[in-house]
Amino acid sequence: MSWHQKSVAQLSKALINKEISSFELSTYYLERMADSRNLNAYLDTLPELSLAQAKEADTLRAQGKAGPLTGIPIAHKDVFVSKGWATTAASKILEGYISPFDAAVVEALGMPTERHPHAAGMVCLGKTNMDEFAMGSSNENSAYGPALNPWNTKCVSGGSSGGSAVAVAAGLAPVATGTDTGGSIRQPAAFCGLTGIKPTYGRVSRYGMIAYASSLDQAGPIGKTAEDCALLLSAMSFHDPRDSTSLADSGEDYARYLHSSWSDKDQNKPLAGLRVGLPKEFYADGLSSEVAQALLVAKDALHGLGASVCEVSLPKTQLSIPVYYVLAPAEASSNLSRYDGVRYGHRAKEYSDLVQMYQRSRSEGFGDEVKRRILVGSYVLSQGYYDAYYLQAQKIRRIIAADFQAAFNQCDVILGPVAPDVAWNLGEKSKDPLQMYLEDIYTLSTNLAGLPAMSVPCGFSKGGLPIGMQLIGNYFSEARLLQVAHQYQLVSDWHLRYPAEVSA
Ligand code: GLN
Repeated sequence: MSWHQKSVAQLSKALINKEISSFELSTYYLERMADSRNLNAYLDTLPELSLAQAKEADTLRAQGKAGPLTGIPIAHKDVFVSKGWATTAASKILEGYISPFDAAVVEALGMPTERHPHAAGMVCLGKTNMDEFAMGSSNENSAYGPALNPWNTKCVSGGSSGGSAVAVAAGLAPVATGTDTGGSIRQPAAFCGLTGIKPTYGRVSRYGMIAYASSLDQAGPIGKTAEDCALLLSAMSFHDPRDSTSLADSGEDYARYLHSSWSDKDQNKPLAGLRVGLPKEFYADGLSSEVAQALLVAKDALHGLGASVCEVSLPKTQLSIPVYYVLAPAEASSNLSRYDGVRYGHRAKEYSDLVQMYQRSRSEGFGDEVKRRILVGSYVLSQGYYDAYYLQAQKIRRIIAADFQAAFNQCDVILGPVAPDVAWNLGEKSKDPLQMYLEDIYTLSTNLAGLPAMSVPCGFSKGGLPIGMQLIGNYFSEARLLQVAHQYQLVSDWHLRYPAEVSA
């Protein structure tokens, strides 16, 4: 098995056993990245900076100060600000912007500092491509062109964390960070055959994470396995007083249930006692037969592990699209008002007065989808329309959250699709925003409710593209979700497959 095919857990052991140093491992990845520029996974790389971190990690190890993740390379979505590497959120308006500080996530996973002595010590390989300001489902809204799906480079990688998913799937990083406002960790993970988790809202600090829709945005890892996601999430989650929505407790060891049974009901069946709910609205019109078929097989596998399966209902599923596409643009229109050409980012070269400077800077700097959302957001917040759209959407958001609580009276985990179909062809939906929005049907509601949810590989289409299943849990049930996913991965091998060139 080549280095790039190993999981974080395996690399951690290899580093402990001195089979490889962090410097060698990072060099290996940087070389692969240089050879795979065509995939457009990264927006900024600085090999000398990455290698300096790798050396530091090796020194920490030599001093006996290494933790489980020390020296393991990672790629960060370009939505997290980072010292050294440019941060653009894939927008022209932030072209060349270099932050004077690290986002909480970058800091927590990076080299230990005085302020963060317990940081994980991972090596940053660079910043990954994404849809501009995390708005999109295909990575085609990046101002720097889309990251290409390594399973078929004519297909989209998913969005908005497409670059992170491509980096991991193509063996250009062992693991990566992503953010999920309406599906942006889960959907690209599904499209690229990876495992990803969006935690409970508030679990991971949003400090230094460029804001799209603040009441929905949440960061999480994208990796090969549930075990890797558990390791990463444990290092990413802690109380951060700099983010007013950061949860008060100090996080958990999310790997603690991985190797144990769900209950002590039946020692031969690790998931005995687990109740899996299938929402009938998820298995209805609009779901492709290939995805439905793969989910059926996955459900049987969970049943084989001892889980019981029942039907549940999430009656407001259809409304999650209009509700999300009112609320997220509303928040975006406010969050993006800071890009005014004054404080940072792009400023138009020619203008006659202040207002024209604002207008031109923003017209030149933002892409079409971002402008569309700012317009929609300003509209639904404007006097006269606020009650009809924004307030109404907030009320339905509450009902959607309540529907989940009703479902969790009947089950522990909800099993459904991540997306209606597998990755589509580049250009196929980019001309029609509405068609693109419909792709988010199964992921948006969990963000609206603030619930944790995962994407786990569960099959392939006839065309050879990965299929993901979604596992949704109640608030703070990340460790349990990861346990279910890990037990499933012990009896399946979908997550162990690689695109053709990566198998070599
Ligand atoms: N696809 C959704 C959107 O375009 C979700 C994006 C996200 O989760 N960042 O808004």
